[in-house]
Amino acid sequence: MRINEITNWAYSVTVVLTVLSGGAFIMSSRSAGDERAALQEAKSFDDLSDALELGAEQRSDAARLFVMTGEQRHADVFRADESEEHRLEKEADEVRSRGLSTVEAAALSEVERDADALDTIEEEAVAALAENKRADASAIMFGAEHERLQTALADTVSRFRQLVGMRTQALVDDAKAASDVWSIVAKVMLGLTAALFLGVLYFIFKRRVAMPLTHMTGIVTRLARQDYAVDVPLDARRDEIGDMHQAIHLFRDNALERDRLDVELRAEQRTKDLILQMMHRLQACLTQAELANVVSLFAPQIFPGLAGRLYVLNDSRTLLAPAGDWLEPQQPTISFAPNACWGVRRGRAHFSHDHRDDVPCAHLSALSSPCLCVPLTAQGDAIGLLCLEERDQAPGAAESSRLYFELIAENVGLAVANLQLRDRLMNLAVRDALTGLLNRRCLDEVLLRASREEGGKPLSCLMMDIDHFKRFNDEFGHDAGDKVMQYVAQMILDVVDTAGTCYRFGGEEFAVLLPECGDSAAFALAERLREKIATAPLSHGGRILGMVSVSIGVAEANSTTAVGKLVTRADSALLSAKAGGRNRTELAGKAEAGTADLRSHA
Ligand code: GH3
Ligand code: MG
Ligand code: MG
Repeated sequence: MRINEITNWAYSVTVVLTVLSGGAFIMSSRSAGDERAALQEAKSFDDLSDALELGAEQRSDAARLFVMTGEQRHADVFRADESEEHRLEKEADEVRSRGLSTVEAAALSEVERDADALDTIEEEAVAALAENKRADASAIMFGAEHERLQTALADTVSRFRQLVGMRTQALVDDAKAASDVWSIVAKVMLGLTAALFLGVLYFIFKRRVAMPLTHMTGIVTRLARQDYAVDVPLDARRDEIGDMHQAIHLFRDNALERDRLDVELRAEQRTKDLILQMMHRLQACLTQAELANVVSLFAPQIFPGLAGRLYVLNDSRTLLAPAGDWLEPQQPTISFAPNACWGVRRGRAHFSHDHRDDVPCAHLSALSSPCLCVPLTAQGDAIGLLCLEERDQAPGAAESSRLYFELIAENVGLAVANLQLRDRLMNLAVRDALTGLLNRRCLDEVLLRASREEGGKPLSCLMMDIDHFKRFNDEFGHDAGDKVMQYVAQMILDVVDTAGTCYRFGGEEFAVLLPECGDSAAFALAERLREKIATAPLSHGGRILGMVSVSIGVAEANSTTAVGKLVTRADSALLSAKAGGRNRTELAGKAEAGTADLRSHA
C-alpha cells in the first residue's frame, strides 16, 4: 500500500475516532446531568420529609407550650404553623405530581394522614384550652394517643424517606454509572485518536523525513568520498526532500561529468606527453632502424587500440618498404609502390574500410579491420607511410585519433627526412661520388683508430691500381674512364662483400681493409678479385673498351708489423706488382727490399 493511501486511511480513522470521542463526551455529559437531576430530586424529597417532620414537631411543641403556659403567642405560633402545613401539603402534591411509585405515594399519604391525625388532636387540645379545659387539653397533649400519633408520624416519614431515598439513590447510581462508562469511552476514543495521530505522525516523519534524510546522508558521504557509483534514487516528490534528491542527482551528474572530463584530459595529456617524448627521441635517432624502433615502442603506448606498421620510401622512390611494426598488424609485411596507397597519392590521411563508401588502398589485402593510412611527408614530398589497423576492442580509434596521427606523421616524416639528409651529407663527406666507395679520408681515420687500438689482431690491406688506365681516358674519353672505374669498384664490392671495407684511395687506385684476416687469405682474395676483373671485356657507348686488369699489393699488420706502415707496405707490394708486369698480386715482404727502387722507376 502506498504511503499516501496509508496516511489518508489514518486521517479518516482519526476523524471518525475524534467524532466518536466527541459523541461519547456528550453522552457522558448528559449522564452527569441525569445524575445531578436525580440528586436534586432526592434532595427535594429529603427536604419535604424534613419539612413535614419538623413542621409536625414545631406545631406539637407550640401546642404543648400553649397547653402548659396558656400564653396566646404559642397559640399564634401553632396557627402560623398551620398555614405552613398547607404549604407543605401543596408541596407534597407537587412531589406526587412529579411521579412517585405507588408504594411511595401510599407512604406519603400515610405521612399526611398521620400528620393530619396528630394535627386534629392537637387542635382539639388547643380548642379545649381555649374553653379553659386545661386538664382535657393536657390529657390530649401529653396522652398516649398523642405520643402514638407522633411516633407513627415519625415512622411513616422515615419509611417515606427510605422508599424515596432508595429509588433516587438507584437513579443516581444508574446515572453515575452511565456517566462513568461514557466518560471512559470518550477517554479511550480520545486516547486512540491521539495514539493514531501520533503513530501516523511518527510513521510519516520516519518514512518521509527521517529515512530519506538518513539515506541521503549516506549518499552525500559517499559522494564526498568521490564514490560516484552510489545509487541515487530518483524521488519525484514536490517537497524539500524531493528538491534535495534532485540537487544530489545534479551534483552527482556534474561530478561524473567532471570526472569524465578529468579522465579525458589526463588521457589527452598523457598522449601529448608520449608524443612529445617520442618526438625528442626521433630527433636523436641516428639510423632508420633506431627511428623505426622508437615509433614501434611509442605508438602502441599512445594508441593501445591500434596495431600499425611504418613504411619508408626507398632511395629510388619506387617502393614503400616496411621499417617496423607494433601490436602484430594483420596486413602482410610487404613492400609496395607508393601509388598503391591513396593516402600517399592524396598527401593526406586516408581511411579504408569495408563499408564500400570510399576507395580502399590497393596495398591492403582483405580488410578484416578498418585501416588508416597517414602519409609521412617532408617539404611536400612523400617519404613514408604510417598504416594503422583498428582492433576489435577499440572501434573508431583510428578515426578519432586522426589529428594525433597527422601530428605524429609530420614529425616522423621530418625525422626520416633528417636522417636521409644526414645520410646524404655523410655520404658526401665520406664516399666517393663516382664509385660510391668510401674515400681516402675515411681510410685514414679507420687506420688511425686501428693504430690506437692495436691489440695484435691481424688486419690486411689490399692496394690496387688499374693497369694502363690512362689509355681508356685517352682512347675512349673520360666517360669511358669513369665507366671502367665504376666497373672495377663494383667488382671489388662484390668480391670483398662483408669480409672488409673498400675505399677509393685516389685516382684509379683502390684500397681494401680486411680485419681479422691474415696475408695469405688476403692474397687469395686479391687473386680472386684480380681474376674476376680480368674475365670480361668492357664496352661503352657501343665501343669495346677491351680488357681491364689491376695490379694488387697485399700487406698485413699484426703483432709484429704496425698498422701505421700497412698502407705503405701494401703500396710497395703494388709497385712491385706493377714492376713485375702488371695484372698480378704481390705480397708485401717478398718484394719489400726493392720497393723504393721500383717506385722511383714507376
Ligand atoms: P699504370 O698502369 O702505370 O698505373 O698506368 P696508368 O695509365 O694507369 O697510370 P697514370 O698515373 O699514368 O694515369 C692515371 C690516370 O687516371 C691519370 C688521370 O687523368 C686519370 N684519372 C684519375 N682520376 C680519374 C677519374 O676520376 N676519372 C677518369 N676518367 N680518369 C681519372
Ligand atoms: Mg694505373
Ligand atoms: Mg695510378
